[in-house]
Amino acid sequence: MKCKSELQQFKVSTQLSMLGRNPDEQSGFVNAPIYRGSTVVYKSCEDIRNKKAKFSYGTAGTPTIENLENAWSILANAAGTVISPSGLGALALALFSVTQAGDHILVTDSVYRPTRNFCNSLLTKYGVSVTYYDPLLGGDIERLIQKNTRVILLECPGSQSFEVQDIGAIVSVAKRYNISTIIDNTWATPLFFKAHEHGIDLSVEAGTKYLSGHSDLLMGVVSANASHWPALRAAYDAMAMLPGAEDCFLALRGLRTMHLRVKEAEARGLEIANWLKIQPEVSRVLHPAFEECPGHENWKKYFTGSTGLFSIILKDRFNLNNVDDMLDNMRIFGMGFSWGGFESLIIPFDCTEYRTATQWAPEGMALRLQIGLEDIDDLKQDLSDGLKRLYNR
Ligand SMILES: *Cc1c(COP(=O)(O)O)cnc(C)c1O
Repeated sequence: MKCKSELQQFKVSTQLSMLGRNPDEQSGFVNAPIYRGSTVVYKSCEDIRNKKAKFSYGTAGTPTIENLENAWSILANAAGTVISPSGLGALALALFSVTQAGDHILVTDSVYRPTRNFCNSLLTKYGVSVTYYDPLLGGDIERLIQKNTRVILLECPGSQSFEVQDIGAIVSVAKRYNISTIIDNTWATPLFFKAHEHGIDLSVEAGTKYLSGHSDLLMGVVSANASHWPALRAAYDAMAMLPGAEDCFLALRGLRTMHLRVKEAEARGLEIANWLKIQPEVSRVLHPAFEECPGHENWKKYFTGSTGLFSIILKDRFNLNNVDDMLDNMRIFGMGFSWGGFESLIIPFDCTEYRTATQWAPEGMALRLQIGLEDIDDLKQDLSDGLKRLYNR
C-alpha cells in the first residue's frame, strides 16, 4: 500500500481504490492475496528471542487483516484500527478498552439495543455502572457526570428513532472532564462523518452494513485517535477477537465501491423519504435530513451527507393488524434486521419497553426502512400497494 501521507493527497474515491493493496508485492496482481493461518515460522532462535518478525502468530495479525486495518485508518483519519467479527463485538472491544471496575459510563438512550444489553449485562457484571441519557440533551450532559464517569457513548443518529446529537457540545464537555468518547458511526460511515476530526476518541462501524454492502458479511471496525490507540490495541490483543481472512477480503472488496453505494443510498433514501412524507397514511418521517427529525440542526452542523436508512411514523388510526397486512405482503421490501445491503428492507419497531431516560410515545405505529438498489418506481409501487393494505381490517 502507498504510504499514508501520499494517499492523503488524493480525494476519497481515489484513496478507496488504492488502499490496502500493493501490486508490487503481489506479483503484479491488482488485489492482495488472502493470508490464512495460525503458525508463522521463524528463521532462527535469535529471531524468536528478539521478536524480529513482523508477524508472529495468527491471533497477532496477518497481512490480510493489516491491509484492512491500514485502509480504514486512512479513510477515518485515525491513528489505528482494529477489526472484529461483528459490529457488536467492536462496540464491546471499544468499551472494554476504556473501562475498569468502579467506573461509570454515560450511554445514549437511543443506542442500538444489543449495545444496551452488553452494557447492562457484561459491563455491569465487571463493575461498571451505566446511566442512559437523553440523546437531545447536548451540553447539559454535564449534569449527569459523576466523579467516576470515564466514558460517553454516542450513537448518531439513534438506532431506529434517528435523534441526532449535538456531538460538538458533548465532546467539549467530555474533554473538560477528561472523559473518553466513543461513537457508533455506522449510519454515516467515515464518508459522511469524520468522527476523529470532531474530537471523538473511538469510532465504531458495523462493517456488516455499508462496508460489506451485500448482506453477506458480519464485521466490526474500531478506529482510535493517538491517545486511545495503545489501549484499544492492547484490549484487542488480550482478547484476540479477530476477523476471518475471507471476511477481510470481502470487506476490502466492499471498500472499493463504498462511496458509490453510500451516495446512491443517500439519493434513493431521500427520494423515497420525500415521497412517503406526502402519503396520507404517514404522519412523520424520521430522517436526519428532514427538519421534523429531532436534532436535524445537528445533522446539518456535523454531517456531510445522509444514507439509506430512516423511519416513518404512521397515522394513529392504524393498528398492529393493519401493519401486519401491509408488511406480510410486500413484494420487494424484505422484512429483516440489519441493513446497508443492496436489497430494500422494512421492519416495524417499538422502543417503548427498553428506553429508560426518555419516553418513546409516537402517535402511531413505527416502521424502519432501508432503501436498496432496486428500481425506484418499483419500490414506490410496492410501498404504495402496502399503504393501501393498511385499510384492509
Ligand atoms: C447492525 C448494527 C450494529 C451491530 O453490527 P453487527 O455486525 O450486526 O453486530 C451496531 N450498531 C448499529 C448502529 C447497527 O446498525
